[in-house]
Amino acid sequence: MNVLVTGGAGYIGSICVEQLLEAGHAVTVLDNLSEGHRSAVDPRARFVEGCLSNGPLLARTLRETAAEAVLHFAAHALVGESMQNPAKYFRNNVAWGQNLLDAAVETGVRKFVFSSTCATYGPPERLPMTEDLPQRPINPYGESKLMFERLLEWYQRIYRLEFVAFRYFNAAGASARYGEHHRTETHLIPNVLKVALGQSPQAEIYGTDYPTPDGTCIRDYIHIVDLADAHIRALEPGRQGFYNLGNGEGYSVRQVIDACARLSGRTIPCAEKPRRPGDPPRLVACADKARRDLGWRPRYPKLDDIVASAWAWHQNHPSGYPGP
Ligand code: UDP
Repeated sequence: MNVLVTGGAGYIGSICVEQLLEAGHAVTVLDNLSEGHRSAVDPRARFVEGCLSNGPLLARTLRETAAEAVLHFAAHALVGESMQNPAKYFRNNVAWGQNLLDAAVETGVRKFVFSSTCATYGPPERLPMTEDLPQRPINPYGESKLMFERLLEWYQRIYRLEFVAFRYFNAAGASARYGEHHRTETHLIPNVLKVALGQSPQAEIYGTDYPTPDGTCIRDYIHIVDLADAHIRALEPGRQGFYNLGNGEGYSVRQVIDACARLSGRTIPCAEKPRRPGDPPRLVACADKARRDLGWRPRYPKLDDIVASAWAWHQNHPSGYPGP
């Protein structure tokens, strides 16, 4: 299939591009490189540097590449930042995202695959979390993704744009060639591995007074290659709707730090810090729907395999991707 991948120079997008190419798809990446890296784009993909704010460029790119599907990863995705600067999140993730939806409708794209998030649920009423739980986000990041989910439903109903929206839990790990490099790193695993690499003096634990067994937040970590595999399955005709992607196992911040120390063989000093605003205590997925409807089977469900792949990538790329 001819596919356009927005945000294909970012962490999740770059690995999905690699897997899409492996599966035989023809890929064009559109990315403004605000968060992404040019060298994270697989050389087999065509690259267009551009922004979602540029509606005419989006339509032109879709038309020129005869795109049949769009995979939309380009977004701001930091809970903490969204609490400081909500406007940035609503503008980019909702308003500019709508340009892409409009261009997709205008050019007759058949399938739209969207990166949504478990942050659309807010603190859940029960665990593991199924797709039918109420969505009550507690940060602008989650709210912006939920707003885009609503747009998708209306565009599907009225314009017949078929969509799959994946609600990711915590994407982590790396493929052999592509990994996680944010210019300002806020995510737990890469931050902890920086300590293992000797690039940072200590890991920080945001909150030790949560109502969890060890007092730290619990998350469901999912291997990035398994995440990518679900996207490829979503492209098959007739696949439609909202899907959680996670492993159904929760790990606390302390458990993740322990796994990083064990797998790297390094000591990881820790500092206990206050809670980070906007963080729910526990998020754990039920991804049975993706298993049932998409035939999705995670190949690397164990936290150790996820952390080991991240550690291997960071050891091979201690400064991340080259360039600005
Ligand atoms: N976290 C932490 N120290 C860090 C980074 C994150 O304690 O250096 C915590 C964070 O508060 C959350 C969990 O680790 O409870 C996962 O955070 P991350 O930013 O990796 O992903 P999120 O769940 O926000 O998408």
